[in-house]
Parts: sequence; C-alpha cells; structure tokens
Amino acid sequence: MSISLSRRSFLASTAGFIALHPFSARAATNQAHLRIMETTDLHVHVFPYDYYADKPRDTVGLARTASLIKAIRDEATNSLLIDNGDFLQGNPMGDYIAYERGMKEGDLHPVIEAMNTLGFDASTLGNHEFNYGIEFLMKALAGADFPVVNANVVKEMGGDPTKDKTLIPPYVIMDHKVTDGSGTEHPIKVGLIGFVPPQIMGWDRRHLEGNVQARDILETAKAYLPQMKEEGADIIVALSHSGIGSAEATDGMENAAVPLAGMDGIDAILTGHSHLVFPSPGYADFAGADVDAGTLMGTPATMGGFWGSHMGLIDLLIEKDGNEWRVVSAESEARPISKRNEDRSTTALVESDEAVLASVQQEHDETLAYVRRAVGKTDAPLHSYFALVADDPSVQIVSIAQLWYIEQMMKGTEHEGLPILSAAAPFKAGGRGGPEYFTDVPKGDVAIKNVSDLYLYPNTARAVRVTGQQVKDWLERSAGIFNQVEPGAQDVVLLNPAFPSYNFDVIDGVEYQIDLSQPSKYDPKGVLLDEAASRIVNLTYNGEPLDMAAEFIIATNNYRAGGGGAFPGASPETTVFEGPDTNRDVIVRYIVEKGTISPRADANWTFKPMEGTTVLFDTGPAAKAYAADVPGVTIEEAGDGPDGFARFRISL
Ligand code: MN
Ligand code: MG
Repeated sequence: MSISLSRRSFLASTAGFIALHPFSARAATNQAHLRIMETTDLHVHVFPYDYYADKPRDTVGLARTASLIKAIRDEATNSLLIDNGDFLQGNPMGDYIAYERGMKEGDLHPVIEAMNTLGFDASTLGNHEFNYGIEFLMKALAGADFPVVNANVVKEMGGDPTKDKTLIPPYVIMDHKVTDGSGTEHPIKVGLIGFVPPQIMGWDRRHLEGNVQARDILETAKAYLPQMKEEGADIIVALSHSGIGSAEATDGMENAAVPLAGMDGIDAILTGHSHLVFPSPGYADFAGADVDAGTLMGTPATMGGFWGSHMGLIDLLIEKDGNEWRVVSAESEARPISKRNEDRSTTALVESDEAVLASVQQEHDETLAYVRRAVGKTDAPLHSYFALVADDPSVQIVSIAQLWYIEQMMKGTEHEGLPILSAAAPFKAGGRGGPEYFTDVPKGDVAIKNVSDLYLYPNTARAVRVTGQQVKDWLERSAGIFNQVEPGAQDVVLLNPAFPSYNFDVIDGVEYQIDLSQPSKYDPKGVLLDEAASRIVNLTYNGEPLDMAAEFIIATNNYRAGGGGAFPGASPETTVFEGPDTNRDVIVRYIVEKGTISPRADANWTFKPMEGTTVLFDTGPAAKAYAADVPGVTIEEAGDGPDGFARFRISL
C-alpha cells in the first residue's frame, strides 16, 4: 500500500496534473491526512439515466461520481470510501430487480456490484433498504465485498443497546494504515457505526412488524460509543442515514444528525436521508450547523446530495500523540458531478467511469426493457385533456393509489378509523407547456415509463388531518382557477391563466359542485379575498352533507403539506404522516399489485348547472377524440384556440 501511495506523490510532484490536498502535502511527522468520501441516497442510480423519462441524464449516477472518486483518491495519501444508505430502492432498476428478476441465493444486486467495482470500504443502511423486505435486503447484502453496519435495527432487544441482537453488525472497527508526513506507515483503527430513522417501523410496517424493532438513534449511539473506544477505535465516523434537523434532541427523532454530531467520541459524521447538500448555504440558519467550517456542533460533517449528484468529502488532519490519534484540523465539502447553467440546462462536469458502467450494463439493458414493457393494464384511457373542467382519469388514478397507500400507513396509528380523502391535481394540463403538454396513455398496456407521465414530480407522500371546514376551504382554494360567470352569459373564458394547474386539487372521497356564478374566496396565490364567498356547493360525504366539525385525513404530497399553494388546512402543523415514498413509487406499486387498474372518473365533482350559460376553454387538439366521453359535462368543439390549442364550449 505504501508503495502505491508514494508513487502517487511522485506523479503529483512531477506531472503536475494532480494537486495534493494541503493536509497530504504538508502533514508533519506523526501527522497524517485521512480523507473520507461519502456517497449517499444513491437509490440504485448507477447509469446517468432517467428510466422514467427513458433518456440520459447528466445530474445522476454513481458511474459519474466514480470519476470524482478516482480523482479525489489521487489527491490524498489515505482515503476511505463509504456509502451512507438508501442504495437498494428508488428507481426502476431497483423495482426491476425486486419485482421481476428477483434475488436468488448467490445473485449479485447491480448496485452492490457497482459498489464492489469501485472498492467501497463500508456502508450503512437507509430507510429504503427495507422497502422490499428483510429477506431481499439480506440477499443483496450478502454480495457486498465491504462491511455494512447499522446499530439501531434490532432483532432482539437487550437491557441496553449494547446487549441488543442487531439485524446486522452495529459497527465495525477497521484496521488501516496511514502514511504520515515523513512517509512512515502507522496502524490506525477506524470505527464506523450506522444509524437509520426509527420511523422505518411505520414506513415499512408490513415488512418489519414482528421481525425487528428500531431504537432511538441517540440512545443507541450513547451506548455504543464508549464500547467502540474501549475496543480501540482511534477515530470514529458516524454513518448517519438521518438528516440535519433540530439541534434539540427529542425521543425517536428522524433527523438526528446535529445532536448526534455533538456526542462525545464522534470525530466525523456522514449525513443523508434529506437528499440535500452539506455544507451549503441552505443550512446557514440551522442551529449547530456552521456551513463555512463544514461542521455540525463543531464536528466535521458532509451530505453528498442524492442519486450520485455529489461526492461528500471530509478531510481530517490527524496527529499521533503518544498512543492516541486526535483530529487537529478538518475540512468538508460536497463536490457536484454536474452544474446548472443560467438557462436551467445542465452540463456534466465528469465523464462516466467505464468500469462501473460495464459492471451493470446487463441490468441496465434489462431495466430499459422493463420500463418499456407493460407491467399492468388500464381499462380506460388515461388522459388529462379535460382535467380542469371535469373529473378526470389521470388525476383519479393518482388519487386512488394515494388513498390505497395512506390507508396502509394509518393502520395502527391514532388516526386509524378517520375517513380518508385524497387530493391530487393535474400536472400536465397544457397552459404554458403548450398544446401537446398533456398526459395521454391509451387504454391497454401500462408501462413503467408511463407513470412519470402520470406523476411528473418526485414528490413524496403525506397525510394531513383536517376538519370538514378545511376540506371545503381546500376546494374553495382550487375553485379559484375559474373566472366568475354571470348566469345566462355566452362563451365566457373559463380559466384564469394566472392559476397553475398543479394548484387545482380535486378531492376524491367527497362529492361536490362548483358554482361559477359566485366570486372566488381566494386569489390565485391563495390570499383570502372574501370570507363569505362560497363556490363549493352540495358538498357531501357518504351522501350526507359534509359535517364542518368532523375530522378527515387527506392524502397528498410534500409540496402541498409543506404549504405549497397556501391551501387551507395543508401545513406542517396538520401533517400527521410524512412518507419516505414518492407518490410515483406509490403509483408503480399500486399498478404492479393490482395488475389491471380501472381509473374511471366517477364525476364526484361537476359544475353546478346554469341554464342557458356557456363557457369556453382551450385544450390540446388530441382532446377531440375523447370529448364525447367526459362524464358530468356537455362539451362541444368550438374551433381553434391560439398557439395550436383547440377550443371547446361547455354548456353549463
Ligand atoms: Mn433517500
Ligand atoms: Mg373522482
């Protein structure tokens, strides 16, 4: 090892291509540079490819990160490469292996194969490692040429965490050698310990209940750290598949990286789970975070984005003091694989590593065939041409899948038994996207790549708990998309172009009409205009008028529940479930499990009839084929609209 390391230094000093990191260049006798490289939240992204869109993508892929890794290794005399979890699930390649090819005893999972190829030193588990069940996970881990550690997923609880029987080894203490500034090799023991949010017990209840339990991250760390020191760990790195959240420790916290970083004994912390970047200005206001120093509670920290977007990097200058190593200086950063240009396009900063691509070429090809092949059937066309004027199959399928998922997630919680509604909006509905910008999946086979057409954004599933009044106001907020129409008026322009379609939430599970003769209660941004205004009429649940004081769960997404669109009742305060699963994954699982889906719009919402009144709206010309079949509304062609759109007339 020392031979190759000195060769690298030689290359650096003569060829001048590789700039040695200052810690490597200037380390004194008894000082060494230890570089820790992190990938996190890879979610099976090895190729720089978006399988949903079925096209290459420069912003993702371990094959690209691999090129960074190789360059970064060359800058340092001693380095470790660690993955921080969420590698097994999250794109169609992961689904293909889990749902189609399967993992037989002895099979290598492609993401593990790619990691083996790159020579990872260790990994930990993310919450998504449990999505396909424990048996699948264990078969995948069996192929890893590196240790995988997690301390807080437990098969049998002991009196304290160190007495637990954990699912996999809680930590590892690795014997390494580091070369100091004088070229002398020293043995060093590096301890690595892993943590995952205990929320996995709810998120993957069907796989985990009765099989494992999850401990609080901080409680677990506190018990193990002294033991690792006793066993001789010189340096301890926490592999926290847990994000940067509150600095205040709370029981069972999901994003525990800040208080974890503050614990005695941790020399460096790798974070993740949030799919963000640290250090970055976005964390400037977080208590305990210092984005200039790259530390959490003074401990060097990094978070390497997601899907291979970045390489997280911590550089430690360590010094041997008697028999002990201590950190005397540290730096951290996150290096991107691509950059965003002013016109919002992206440019790759590195080429793919050929060896990593080659290691999963076969599975890549099989995944391409998988996303292009039917995985289910729809017995009705899924299109969004009329999504803004009538109950619509493309929105309905999203609603149904969300409902199916949130029903499972509410089981065993204090919210079980409350009626569950589901809110969804059309994403592709013309507008500025143009006359072809619509969802249009014909009746018959549904392929995985169609799902991205049904659900455009990588949102994650959420549930909020609201009152009947908030359900009504949610709908009033949506109804602001329509211009006010005077009874008896002819050919009034129906839609307000300032109102984006993604804020037109339809709620399934209730029935209602929209009275266009009334003014909107909210403006297009969600600002209250008139407390007394009411467009939502004949609002019923189970055929009875909606009880304004009753409570409901609404299935939605993180954008809405986070306050996006300023919907009444949708906020972090009303959020009772934060899912790790994307709405898109939920739809894929729903289709795979059901086989044939029947996304028939049920006309649970309509316009309130207005005798002798007509309105006009523009949609894609391809809508003509479907106009006669739209439930609950009378539509006729009315010539051409501007910019290639087709115009239709609705008789209210
Ligand atoms: Mn993740
Ligand atoms: Mg419906």
